[in-house]
Amino acid sequence: MNNFQKYQAFNKEHRKVKRVECSITNKRKGAIGKYVCDVKCECGHTMVRMFAGWSALTCGGCGAEVYRHEAIPEIDFYYRAFASGTCDKWHAFDHIFKYVDSRKVQLERVAAIGEEYGVPKSQTFNMRQRFLEMRTPQQKEA
Ligand SMILES: [Zn+2]
Repeated sequence: MNNFQKYQAFNKEHRKVKRVECSITNKRKGAIGKYVCDVKCECGHTMVRMFAGWSALTCGGCGAEVYRHEAIPEIDFYYRAFASGTCDKWHAFDHIFKYVDSRKVQLERVAAIGEEYGVPKSQTFNMRQRFLEMRTPQQKEA
């Protein structure tokens, strides 16, 4: 089995919750004067929702957690890739912590996703510490 096949096999067996990023199109004024839009899941199912005021919903087609922003689906992806042995630890956490740096997601939430794939919270916290320590003082201030 090559790395990709190994990853696919792991993914199939261990993906706890399907978390996907949606596409939002067709923003328009709804009946009550507020904006609505079409939210399309990866599976193709499309839902009409309010444009504002939400960050995640459940797909009525496939049951996936559908996210407005890529952060949670990407974090989920890199933990799975790391847990399946197809992605190097440093590479995976580098991607994961990007979203903590940009304050899209809190470290606690990130660690909880990792735990679903057998990565103890303490390992995520330790890696975070190590990444922070590797930075130059200038980067730390930013
Ligand atoms: Zn779906």
